[in-house]
Amino acid sequence: MDRHAPRWRWHIKAALAAAIARAHAHGLASSAGRPLVLGYHRVVDDYAAAARTEMPGMLISAAMFERHLDWIGRRFQFVTLDEIGEHIAAGRHFDRPVAAVTFDDGYRDVYEHAFPVLRRKGIPATVFVVTDLVGKPFWQVHDKLYQLVAKAFSVWRNPHRELTGLFAELGLPADGIRHRALANPFMTVSWMLPALAMADVRRVMDGIEAAVGNGFQPIPRTVGWPELAEMQRAGITVGSHTRNHVSLPMETPEQVAVELEESRRTIEERLGRPVAHFAYPGGQFTLACVDAVAKAGYRFAYTACGHGDPQHRALTIERLLLWEGSSVDANGRFCPDILECQINGLWPPSRRCHRVHKGGQTPVMGRLEVLG
Ligand SMILES: [Zn+2]
Ligand SMILES: [Zn+2]
Repeated sequence: MDRHAPRWRWHIKAALAAAIARAHAHGLASSAGRPLVLGYHRVVDDYAAAARTEMPGMLISAAMFERHLDWIGRRFQFVTLDEIGEHIAAGRHFDRPVAAVTFDDGYRDVYEHAFPVLRRKGIPATVFVVTDLVGKPFWQVHDKLYQLVAKAFSVWRNPHRELTGLFAELGLPADGIRHRALANPFMTVSWMLPALAMADVRRVMDGIEAAVGNGFQPIPRTVGWPELAEMQRAGITVGSHTRNHVSLPMETPEQVAVELEESRRTIEERLGRPVAHFAYPGGQFTLACVDAVAKAGYRFAYTACGHGDPQHRALTIERLLLWEGSSVDANGRFCPDILECQINGLWPPSRRCHRVHKGGQTPVMGRLEVLG
């Protein structure tokens, strides 16, 4: 096999991106009026080192993050989510290109690496926290599942057979397990998480650990309440991302209400300000979830992709999720053309979105592939 093939592909992609960016030089102008809401997860010191053990799609280096801010800041005015939300709720368009920065899950490295950059540049941002994890030495469910699946894949000779067997043993639907979803641990986690209730995710994790043990890396640290208070004083908004990072469409209405209401109450008690903003875990929502979010007292909610619901604009505000690989060329260097394509919805040109974001639709095993 030609080990240079991926690099050549990147060169071709970069050339294609440049061509598309030139062809759509009007793109930024045409996106005026539509706010650009960016979504990140973890901001690390050294991307390559972190990506050896963590999910790459969750990571961006502090240096790359700053390049994103600089490039976007020359073309958009950074504003708060309050400002974007109020405009959308009132049905008003912006008369200038505006952008907002958000972070999901509440990792401590956002406080360590992103917050200083944001403060230095005077850029507002929002952190969506998983309230049961704030300041606790607990795993984010996606990180723990990823570590377990990675360990299992290093042991299992036939992951498809093993996982199908485990699902059957637990009484979970095993017929949707596709070989493609088992291409690597990241794909497997991205497929499995949105389609299972949290109780079932925990049973699967216990089953994998019982079968192969675990090769756990240190638990990524979550941000604590004192750091969140410090960030809030410096202009960072704190929003909710549920109590436990559940996939809302898979939980009972009672459980959804608890996740939404208690997470909001906890933040308000700890930080002393009303919480208006919510981000759907994994970007997954049904219309019942949207109603529950409104009923729980949130005014604005955020997807993890470009598919909001036109009937519920303020409660399905679209976001663009970015990571280190979103804007790099073959050599891992920042490539503004690719970032521009991302921002204009032109990259990757043929990518389909498999998230659940329609009324009544339930996730289908094996079809979901991106975390949020
Ligand atoms: Zn999340
Ligand atoms: Zn979508």
